[in-house]
Amino acid sequence: MPITYSFTKLKPAYNIKTDRTFTVVRKYAFIFTLLVAFGGQFFPKLGLLVVPVMIGLLIAAFFKGRYWCGNICSHGSYYDFLLLPFSRNAKIPKFMRWTLLSLLVLAWFGFRMTTGLYNASLAYGDPDFWDKTGNVFVNAFMMVIIAGTTLGILVSPRMWCSVCPMGVMQKASNFLGRKLKVTKVTEEKVTIADKDQCHTCGKCSRVCPMQLTPHLNFNEHNQFDSSNCIKCSTCVENCPADLLTLSNQSTANFITRNVKKEAGKNRKQFTTTICKISTLKENVKEFIFQLSDNSINFKAGQFILVKIKDKPEMFRAFSVSYFDKTNNRIGVTVKKASNGYGSEILFNDFAEGMNVILEGPIGDEIVIDEESKRAIFIGGGIGITPFVPLVQEAINSNKIEDIKLIYGVNKESELIYTDKFMQMEKESDKFSFIPVVAFDENWKGEKGFVTDVLDKMNLTGNTIYMCGPKPMIDTSLKKLDQLGVDKNNIRYESA
Ligand SMILES: Cc1cc2nc3c(=O)[nH]c(=O)nc-3n(C[C@H](O)[C@H](O)[C@H](O)COP(=O)(O)OP(=O)(O)OC[C@H]3O[C@@H](n4cnc5c(N)ncnc54)[C@H](O)[C@@H]3O)c2cc1C
Ligand code: SF4
Ligand code: SF4
Repeated sequence: MPITYSFTKLKPAYNIKTDRTFTVVRKYAFIFTLLVAFGGQFFPKLGLLVVPVMIGLLIAAFFKGRYWCGNICSHGSYYDFLLLPFSRNAKIPKFMRWTLLSLLVLAWFGFRMTTGLYNASLAYGDPDFWDKTGNVFVNAFMMVIIAGTTLGILVSPRMWCSVCPMGVMQKASNFLGRKLKVTKVTEEKVTIADKDQCHTCGKCSRVCPMQLTPHLNFNEHNQFDSSNCIKCSTCVENCPADLLTLSNQSTANFITRNVKKEAGKNRKQFTTTICKISTLKENVKEFIFQLSDNSINFKAGQFILVKIKDKPEMFRAFSVSYFDKTNNRIGVTVKKASNGYGSEILFNDFAEGMNVILEGPIGDEIVIDEESKRAIFIGGGIGITPFVPLVQEAINSNKIEDIKLIYGVNKESELIYTDKFMQMEKESDKFSFIPVVAFDENWKGEKGFVTDVLDKMNLTGNTIYMCGPKPMIDTSLKKLDQLGVDKNNIRYESA
């Protein structure tokens, strides 16, 4: 009787703190909040500076939704830049999203401001009229600092933004813009290039400062329509599949029409059973899944999604490191990420005999181009995994005449699958295996980084396929550029 999912012991945090992309404005705008709230205690006229800000954000919202909140707002900058490091970054309670609650907060703030301004107006013509008027805004800023800081540290940095009265007024202004169809051109929304290539990893939702769920809510134009989205681009920056942009509707239509659809074309769901789990290193395990039939359409170099959670449905992408067509088996090799949500589940909860949903295969970045007769494969760290089937496929291909695999790690103890690659090298005279170790005195082979090996090679006529951590990909791309390799002959994938 197969075991089924339990997902009982979820450990690492769902919401991930991640660096925001700071423009100068976004980084330092918090100075304005502090200046008005604290400086205003001594110079109340500073509060008057808030008036043009309020007018500006309402106009901006008419055209662009809550763009101001994510990119210009001085309170937002305070939450993202100053509070984020100290925040628990916990889940924002559901009631904070109730419209009624934001209307109550708006009514309360509105009442305080109106009565404050009315009282100040009674002093019209007096020398302290402007001080009294400014003070109304200074007090409002101070209240926001107190409420925002408390909620931000105890729960989540942007928790106040869920009920912020200015946010509600922006939504009203934007509603008008949408009704008048102005926003079709002016408002940029989070857009996914191709839903079929989405990894359903949920990362866009886990990093969202407003704790929205773009990956579950793309509309028929592939856009995320939430009026609470502050257009901060955090999800765009963090999507591992590089599928997201902030685009208006016509750009979104262009992107979705012109994206390469091949990569997600054969995607299907499979119910499998884990038939074997092997520990390759203390923090690396290989999982082999038994498919029920041979309907999977897999090409070496592709990756597959492994379901790690039901609610919200969540998958993790892993390059296929093992494929046995005859016995309908497919495998992935996983490195445990420290504090990693998905890899912890795979390491702690996955067991032989358990049913697991796989989805895919996806990706064509490092699938072999048979037009090119010479291949150089470069794998860094856990990025070596797709090269197990890739090297075998290249060896089997009659069209490919020369194959080299450069495998870079920091320490010799991190190397995996070396026996397999050495065996393939023994059996094929067109394949050379070059492991390279960066920081290990006792290592007898090539020392340094993969780029040091590239320096010594003749790269002419080769297609280069790379998979590994982003820093390795970036330095290798730079090196290949210096060595005069045409960009069209380079393919890569990075986690
Ligand atoms: C195309 C593709 C192929 C891939 N192939 C492989 C493969 O073959 N093998 C493999 O092992 N991996 C592979 N990956 C990576 C894999 O999909 C996962 O991203 C990886 O296992 C980490 O997932 P996780 O859920 O454990 O970590 P996550 O929970 O998503 O965390 C990611 C990182 O963020 C950090 N983090 C977690 N929580 C917090 C927090 N609260 N604050 C700050 N930082 C935090 C973690 O330390 C971790 O390093 C691939 C990825 C892609 C896109
Ligand atoms: S959905 Fe993306 S752009 Fe919108 S608030 Fe969340 S992270 Fe920012
Ligand atoms: S791949 Fe992950 S981060 Fe990107 S859109 Fe899909 S679920 Fe979001």
